[in-house]
Amino acid sequence: MTIRIGIGYDIHRLKNGKGIRLGAILIPCEFELVGHSDADVLIHAVCDALLGAVGAGDMGTHFPDSDEKFRGKESSWFLREVAKKVQKKGFKISQIDSVIIAERPKLLEYLPQIRKKLAGLLRTSIEQVSVKAKTNEGLDSIGGKKAIAAWAVSLVQKVKTK
Ligand code: MG
Repeated sequence: MTIRIGIGYDIHRLKNGKGIRLGAILIPCEFELVGHSDADVLIHAVCDALLGAVGAGDMGTHFPDSDEKFRGKESSWFLREVAKKVQKKGFKISQIDSVIIAERPKLLEYLPQIRKKLAGLLRTSIEQVSVKAKTNEGLDSIGGKKAIAAWAVSLVQKVKTK
């Protein structure tokens, strides 16, 4: 059995606003994430973890922020595209684990919803997707509420031999 792992990381700046999108779930709060797309750091980290696992580069390769057609794009679209690429390479997703690092807003109550949403977009069971949240204990830019970051790892399994 061939298995592969991948890692992904992303960070986006915060500014004052009406809410942020994490794992394609809108979280009402006094901030907004700044980015070329909808700046969904969690989905961007998961995309890179999956692309890494199948040796297919990263989000910047496939969806460059120099390309106007990706401006304001919903990140759920990127995740579905990446899931298709994983499948085309002959792999299926075994597991995703992730952590969002955010001082504010408090994310605990949204985590079950985010997991469910990601599992739906990736066509996996909820048990195959884990989403955790940490603060940065007031340290650095994340602790200072200037940014939110996310890490993700993925495990994929070869299902087709080419
Ligand atoms: Mg990003």
